Amino acid sequence: MSTDLPFFRYHPDPLATGSLRAATETCVCCKRDRGWIYTATFYTARDVDGRFCPWCIADGSAADRFAGEFTDPYGLDGVGEDVLHEVTRRTPGFHAWQDPHWLVHCQDAAAFVGEVGYPELAAHPEALDQLRTDLRLDGWHDETRLELFLTSLGQGATAMLFRCTACGTHLAYADPS
Ligand SMILES: [Zn+2]
Ligand SMILES: [Zn+2]
Repeated sequence: MSTDLPFFRYHPDPLATGSLRAATETCVCCKRDRGWIYTATFYTARDVDGRFCPWCIADGSAADRFAGEFTDPYGLDGVGEDVLHEVTRRTPGFHAWQDPHWLVHCQDAAAFVGEVGYPELAAHPEALDQLRTDLRLDGWHDETRLELFLTSLGQGATAMLFRCTACGTHLAYADPS
């Protein structure tokens, strides 16, 4: 078993997020047991009778062969076609209640850090402020309810935390359970 996993610019620690894990399992794409398997989302109209190794994600062969995407392109506005392609077709998705999507900062896709609760989110005040602003725009007008929702994150609803690959700013969206 090798820990020499491919590097994913937009999902730098897929072991920590649980999207990849050690497994003795044959990849449905390359038909090899590489010691690691992908556990999260893949959207395709085809029947996929198994799971992928990280190498078939990284080189795009899984997305090509099964005509699918790991992540919905929803939210990836203002990024180049190459970035869109890399995030949706060559980057592991992640586990979420709702369909996972990516956030954008500095005209680039941000890197997915992981699913967090309020304490981890509060450690990045800029992400907490941005999420609060987004929720107000989404129609949360009762400030007491809004703060209760934010401070309860991690118990039911969670936040998906990202970090801008250009400026390092953290950003997040809420994933209602
Ligand atoms: Zn493979
Ligand atoms: Zn940025």
